[in-house]
Amino acid sequence: MNSNQKKLVFRIFVSGFILLFIFIFNIFFSIPAISQLLFFLVSYLIVGYDVLIKTFKNSLKFKFFNEQSLMFIATIGAFFLKQYFEAVIVFLLYQVGELFQDIAVDRSKNQITNVLHIRSEYANLKQNSVIKKVSPLEINIGDVIVVKPGERVPLDGVVLRGGSYLDVSSMTGESNFLSVSVGDSVLSGVVNVSGVLEIRVEKKYEDSTVKKVLDLIENVEDKKSKTENLIKRFAKIYTPCVVFVAFLMFVVPVFVFGCSWQVWLERCLIFLVISCPCALVISVPVSFFLAISKSAKNGILVKGSIFLEVISKINTAIFDKTGTLTKGEFVVKDVVSSEYSKEEVLRIVALAESKLNHPISKSIKNAYKKDLDLELVEDVEEVFGKGVKAKIEGKEVFVGNKKLMNDIGIFDVKEDIAGTNVHLAIEKKYVGFVVLKDEIKEGAKKDLQKLRELGIKKLVMLTGDKKEISESIFKELCLDSVYFELLPFEKVEKLEHFLKEGPSIFVGDGVNDAASLKRADVGIAMGAIGSDAVMEAADVVLMDDDLKTLVKFILISKKAIRVVKQNIIFSLSFKGLIFFLGAFGLTNIWLAIFSDVGISILAILNSFRALSR
Ligand code: ADP
Ligand code: MG
Repeated sequence: MNSNQKKLVFRIFVSGFILLFIFIFNIFFSIPAISQLLFFLVSYLIVGYDVLIKTFKNSLKFKFFNEQSLMFIATIGAFFLKQYFEAVIVFLLYQVGELFQDIAVDRSKNQITNVLHIRSEYANLKQNSVIKKVSPLEINIGDVIVVKPGERVPLDGVVLRGGSYLDVSSMTGESNFLSVSVGDSVLSGVVNVSGVLEIRVEKKYEDSTVKKVLDLIENVEDKKSKTENLIKRFAKIYTPCVVFVAFLMFVVPVFVFGCSWQVWLERCLIFLVISCPCALVISVPVSFFLAISKSAKNGILVKGSIFLEVISKINTAIFDKTGTLTKGEFVVKDVVSSEYSKEEVLRIVALAESKLNHPISKSIKNAYKKDLDLELVEDVEEVFGKGVKAKIEGKEVFVGNKKLMNDIGIFDVKEDIAGTNVHLAIEKKYVGFVVLKDEIKEGAKKDLQKLRELGIKKLVMLTGDKKEISESIFKELCLDSVYFELLPFEKVEKLEHFLKEGPSIFVGDGVNDAASLKRADVGIAMGAIGSDAVMEAADVVLMDDDLKTLVKFILISKKAIRVVKQNIIFSLSFKGLIFFLGAFGLTNIWLAIFSDVGISILAILNSFRALSR
């Protein structure tokens, strides 16, 4: 509980105590009416003064109709009926409900940030062989920090000395150990498990991975779901209507038909209390917050509740191939060249790829096991969806697919149909190619099957890779459509075509696909922690690259929407029932008050039941 909530608890207790005091005292002695009124007023003001102030301030701004004013009108009416006790109780319970809701929202919000314990409180700064504990905010680029076993890496950097295993589970949601040694980059947020590491810091805290992940989660509220906005707009129209109906309920019977004003004032109060939309207004955001935090616990970062809502309705899932449906870890199967040795071809290709992050680049670097002299490489230019151009040992080198070779006037290119071919041309003369093989992710077929069971009708693959490979994957995974040899912008065009047919998600590892991630109804990036552009472009970031996590996310979204619907239906029908009873004079103000608070609490409990844990 925060200090405001504690204050409110105190006020509720004091006010409740005064009520109890009057109640008991009244049994034994009779308190004069005027002092009773005084006690009730004090109790009323203690528990409700902030509501009164808010109502007053709002009415100065000509905002007469909101939850608070409903409560205000209802209590004033009760005072007129000399139902002082009821008047105070209305406020008291209204505040208990508010308190409960406030705590529920806070708790669900906190859950979101707390599930990710990735921020470090300090960094061990090493200066002139002295180690000092300082805040990560004070560290500059180029500083050297020491991370001991058991500590969390506070900032992004490169290992200068030492070697260790890193536990990346907090960043990927999956327990996974990564071995690092001198020269490897290390992301902030991961835990050092075994050895002492000295790390040269490469980014300030503001730009670090940890900060980005936390920002992403903290800004969740910005993109509210349609239901949430709908409810807000609903409340805006609804409240004035309620007040107007209540007004008619009083005026028409009393002044037109000459009925008793006490009876109709009371009915009108009951109507006002029942009409308070608290349960709806609050339980919807609580459900969404809980779902978002549940996602975060499973390594899924959702940028707003709107995406939960959209994802529960999608028809089509569009996948990138490399790194999404396939592992993205290519194995070198063969190197073919008539002039150069295999070793030399691999070395030049590896040099050209050395500065890129494409799965092909990473795999080739791994395959060429020897150290690369990076000083030999200059002017590296990535040609998206085709390959890379660079200057190596002074010569112009092109490395990439057939399209890239065609671009530089080389048309006589042999291919090995079984794998992805990476061709090499030096000074625009064809040299040879490397054959790479990727594998479909384990369990991918089953996971896609589950997506179908969850209601996704169409599974599509878009890829820049060539026909033969794409078609074999298409068959093996039983997809509905496949489009191959696409450049990144052509992927977006295909995507637009599917978007026209119905709500679609795009799932990709983000390499070259930021535009598609942005364009889709929901762009989902896999295994993208650490890549700023991708985290920026995606609506949902899966911290690992497992398709099961995608299935889990869709399950959570569906559940959240179900709970929201349950709560809306439940509270509307219950209110309807009480209202119906009220119209026949079969209810009283007590029942109305308790049902209102009760519905709010039940709706919130229902959300917690379904979505926490
Ligand atoms: P995908 O759609 O499979 O994720 P990309 O759009 O990233 O693939 O790339 C499409 C094709 O372009 C790859 O299959 C490969 O032939 C070629 N390519 C892209 N980047 C590189 C690179 N860095 N080195 C070699 N070839 C590349
Ligand atoms: Mg890709």
